[in-house]
Order: sequence, then structure tokens, then C-alpha cells
Amino acid sequence: MQPITHLLASWTVAGIPRLESRDRIIITLAGISPDVDGVGIVVELATEHIQQPLLWYSKYHHVIGHNLIFGIVISLTAAAIARRRLLTAALVFFVFHLHLFCDLIGSRGPDGYQWPIPYFYPFFQNIELSWSGQWALNAWPNILFTIILMMITCYLAWKKGLSPLEIISKRANRVFVDMFRQRFGRPQS
Ligand SMILES: [Zn+2]
Repeated sequence: MQPITHLLASWTVAGIPRLESRDRIIITLAGISPDVDGVGIVVELATEHIQQPLLWYSKYHHVIGHNLIFGIVISLTAAAIARRRLLTAALVFFVFHLHLFCDLIGSRGPDGYQWPIPYFYPFFQNIELSWSGQWALNAWPNILFTIILMMITCYLAWKKGLSPLEIISKRANRVFVDMFRQRFGRPQS
């Protein structure tokens, strides 16, 4: 799925328990982190006209960041830097798998390519996860899912005073939250 959908999904998970801002941000960023393996697209596009282009996107997207080892590494990293170590690490492990699941069900490329997930990479490279019912990246279920997540995000902003904007700045988050509270009144606590 698109990075925005992954971001909102992991944000929603992070926004449910009572956590400090730092831990919520760790969980949210962890939920989109598998897609860092897509940055190779810059190199691939830059070298596409040379004699031996570097196919870093085609080769490594949905590979480097989309496997169990990567999930374990980011969970351990979260455990090392979070305030509530165990809960944050567990939720990082969960949102990582949620990311893989979302990719599995709804990331078919325009050319029909399924982007199979090499879950046990770099071991057992012949085992790849894919689902025959997978829908396209821009299909309606993804759009609907994203809209629902946006609505939950707005609700959490109004109710709990929290939004993914806190990743950028506390001030931006405040402005966003106040917008809902001025419109709908303050929530009963
Ligand atoms: Zn992905």
C-alpha cells in the first residue's frame, strides 16, 4: 500500500494505548520504515540510460525492508530507545507485520507484478509470500481503508489531542487539534 496508508495505520495503532509522544513516533515511523528499501528508485532512474543501469529499486524494493530480520532489528532498536520499552517494541513488531500484510493484500503494480515478500530473506530465499487475490495499489479498498484511517486520525486528534503531525512539530499538532475542538467542542474527559 501507499506510504500514507502505512503511516496512518501505524499511527492509529500507536495512538490507542497511553504512550509518550516519543514512543508513538517510534511506532509510527517503524510502520513505514520497510519502504526505505524503495529509495533505490533514485539510483535506478538516474542510471537507467547508462550501459549497466543499477536496478536497485527492481532488485531490492520489497526485499531489504520486508523480511523478518528487518522486523526484529527495528523492534530491538525500539526497545533500546523507547520509554516503555517492551510495549513499544511489541507494537513495532506488530505494525511491521501489519505493513507486510497490507502490502500482501493490496500492492499489485500497474503491470500486474505482485511484489512477493521474501519473508525469510536472506535465508530461504525461495520462500516468498504472495496472495492470488491481491488488488492493485490504487484499487478502491485501499482508498476506502485510507479514508477510514483518516477519519480515525481526526477522531483521535479531537478526542485525545494527538495527531501524526507531532512527528513534525508539537505546534503543528496543536493547530490541527484546536481546529477540531473549535468546530466540535471539547471532548468530555
Ligand atoms: Zn511496503
